[in-house]
Order: sequence, then C-alpha cells, then structure tokens
Amino acid sequence: MVTIKNIGFIGLGNMGVPMATNLVNAGFSVQVYNRNAQKAKDFQQTVDIQVADTVASLVSTSDVIITMLSNDAAVQEVYGNLFAAGAGKASIYIDMSTVSPETTRQLAATAAEKGISYLDAPVSGSVKPATERQLIIMVGGDAAAFDQVQPVFAALGKSSTLLGASGAGNIAKLAINLFLGITIQGLSEAVVFAAKNGISAEDLLPLINNGPIGSGITKLKTSNIVNEDYTPAFALKLLKKDIGLAEAMGMDTPTGKALSATLIDAVEKGLGDDDMVAIHRYLTKFIS
Ligand code: NAP
Repeated sequence: MVTIKNIGFIGLGNMGVPMATNLVNAGFSVQVYNRNAQKAKDFQQTVDIQVADTVASLVSTSDVIITMLSNDAAVQEVYGNLFAAGAGKASIYIDMSTVSPETTRQLAATAAEKGISYLDAPVSGSVKPATERQLIIMVGGDAAAFDQVQPVFAALGKSSTLLGASGAGNIAKLAINLFLGITIQGLSEAVVFAAKNGISAEDLLPLINNGPIGSGITKLKTSNIVNEDYTPAFALKLLKKDIGLAEAMGMDTPTGKALSATLIDAVEKGLGDDDMVAIHRYLTKFIS
C-alpha cells in the first residue's frame, strides 16, 4: 500500500492548472512539468509547487504521476518518455486526459509489464468545476490502485467511479461528451432560430433555463451566448477530437454525425481555439 504524499503532475492547460492547485491545497507535495516551461514558471509564482525540467525526473520523486494532456498524441509522447525513464518510485500512473480507450489499453499494458498500475480517469466538468473540486471522475483499471488513489481523487472532484477494466473511463467520457456536444448544438440552433424570427437570446434563454429543459450546461453557457463571449474553457477543437474518437468506436447515430460535421467545418473555418459554445458563432456566421 503506497502512502501518497508526492504527486508528479504533467500538463498545465486550462484544466491542469486548477487541478494541480487543488492537490497543493489538499496538502500534497506537487512537482509539475509542462512542455511550455514558461507556463510552469508562471504557475510557480502563484502556487507552492516545484517545477521539473523533464517528465523523466518525476519518475524518481513521485508516488503517483497524473497527466492532463490534450490528446492521444500528447499522451503517447509523454508516457513514452515516462516509460523510457525506467523504474522509479512512482507505482501508479493516472491519465485524466480524454483519449481513445485503445490508446489507454496499450499504455496500461506497457505499464503492467513494468509493474506500474495505470488508471484512465477522465473527468466530466470544465474549468469551474475543476476549480471548485466538483469534477466527476470516471475510471478504468485496477481496483486496488483505484482504492489507493482515493485521497487524490477526493482532492480533485466530488465523485470517482470505477467503471471496469482499462479504457472504461474513457468510454463513459466519450458518451458524456457526445451528449454535451449535441446539447450545445441544440441550444445554439434554438437560439439562432429564435433570433432569426425576432426573439433575442437574452429573452429566450431564461425561458429555457427556468423550465424542465434547462440544465447546468444551458445555464453555464447562457452569458457566453448572450454576450457572444467564446473565451475557451473547453476548446471546440477538443470536442471535435472527442466526437472523432467516438466515431472511430462506431458512433454513427444521426445527431452525433450532424454534430461531427459541424465541428469539423467549424475548425476548418478557424473556430477551433474558441470555446465549444462557438457552435453558436459558427451557426450565426456561416450557416444562418
Ligand atoms: P489545454 O488547455 O489545451 O492543455 C493541454 C495541455 O497538454 C498543455 O499543458 C499542453 O502543453 C499539453 N500538451 C499538448 N501536447 C503535448 C505534448 N506533445 N507533449 C507534452 N505536453 C503536451 O487542454 P485542457 O482544456 O486542459 O484539456 C486537457 C484534457 O482534458 C483534454 O484531453 C480535454 O479533452 C480534457 N477535458 C477538458 C475539459 C475542459 O473543459 N477544458 C473538460 C474535461 C476534460 P503546452 O502548454 O506546452 O501546450
């Protein structure tokens, strides 16, 4: 049984920064690595963390390593470097990025050969829930490792659920993001239709939010739509990545395919770095 005190954290993006901050606030000793080293140095000005120059150096100092990276390619590159670093102190690796279950299973198999437990633990919830320790963590992998890292998950989210073998966390996550994307596209289409016929977003959205079809996400994104503020919390290109992963696993349902077409075209038209709610911008600017 590992007593977890030292955590190596890799990936200081929109999600990584609040998550690493919460680990420090929960009392863990946190050492971070980020590809763009300046981001790690800037982060060190605000939070009591140590900065590593290489991912490999985390292997010898950490009890547990957590990654929060963009996509499959990033995760494969970083774990390649971790595995190449050889045996170290860390015996549990947790990838909290959203990636394909196939990549997860491959990396988990390599980790197992080295005696390391590998959990896929993607999260539901964006920057605000990450900041408020309200993430929902869905996990695939070994039950004993899942039990051991409970204090870590408790510092990051409001729930963690072991769903099955390696890859199960990412399967659940892709299903949730399919629903998320369809919801945002549906909401945007309703707003665009209303606006075209004389009802403003400002008037329509409270009606939606106050009724049975209002939800956490419709409420969260209302001010973005009303103010046409597409500052990224969850970048549209990342949602496109997730829907692409779902398609690669056989998602071929009508609304999901329509969502996929929207996201591909929106990225081609330069909206990939906007928040996913820029589906509204896409419909306003290019479709309607
Ligand atoms: P982000 O802001 O784009 O940050 C991505 C991080 O990955 C950065 O630290 C980046 O480093 C690093 N990275 C990318 N390629 C790399 C490589 N080849 N080698 C090393 N590091 C690399 O992404 P995010 O919004 O935090 O999302 C992270 C993950 O969580 C994604 O899988 C996303 O789908 C998932 N997720 C996001 C949200 C959300 O609302 N944002 C919610 C749930 C799940 P640099 O700083 O050097 O670029």
